[in-house]
Amino acid sequence: MVSSEYERRIAARFAVFDQDGNGYIDREDFSQAARSLLAEFGVTARSDRGQALFIGAEAFWQGMAGIADRDGDQRITRDEFVTGAVKRLRDNPERFTAIARPFLRAVLAVADESEGEGEGTTVTSTGRVLRVLGIPADIADTATAALDPDHDGRITEDDLVAAFGAYFTVRE
Ligand code: CA
Ligand code: CA
Repeated sequence: MVSSEYERRIAARFAVFDQDGNGYIDREDFSQAARSLLAEFGVTARSDRGQALFIGAEAFWQGMAGIADRDGDQRITRDEFVTGAVKRLRDNPERFTAIARPFLRAVLAVADESEGEGEGTTVTSTGRVLRVLGIPADIADTATAALDPDHDGRITEDDLVAAFGAYFTVRE
C-alpha cells in the first residue's frame, strides 16, 4: 500500500465524517454530529433549531449515500468515499456543496448565540463547531480566520459552504 500526502489528506477528511470512528460513514455519524453540536450550544433536539439540524443532517447523509454508497448497504467505506465522494466533489463541487448546505445553514443557526436576533454567527462560535466535530485545532483556527475575510467577526452561510467545499476538495 502506497502511503502518500494525498492518502493522508483523504484519511483526515474521512475521519471528519466518521464521527464515531468505527471505520465507515453511516447515518449514525450524522446524527451523532447533530447531537454533539446541540449539546455544545445548549440547544434542545425538539426546538426549531434542533429539528432543522437533524433534518439537515439526514439530508446530508442521504445525499452522501446517493453519491458514494455504491453497493447500497447504508455504509460508506473508505474506498467508496474516495471513489464516490472525493471524485464527485472534484468533478462537481456545486452538487456536493448543495448536499451539505441545509446542514451547514442549520449548524450556523445552532451556533448563533444571539438565537437569530440578527447578530449572526461569530468566528468564535464557528471555531467551537469545528472543534466539536473533531477538526484538528490548527486547521480549525486557520479555517475560521479564512472564513472571515472582511474581519467583521461574523461568518456567513456562503463563506462556510465555500470553505467546506474547499476543505473536502482533495486533488492528487
Ligand atoms: Ca462511523
Ligand atoms: Ca456501501
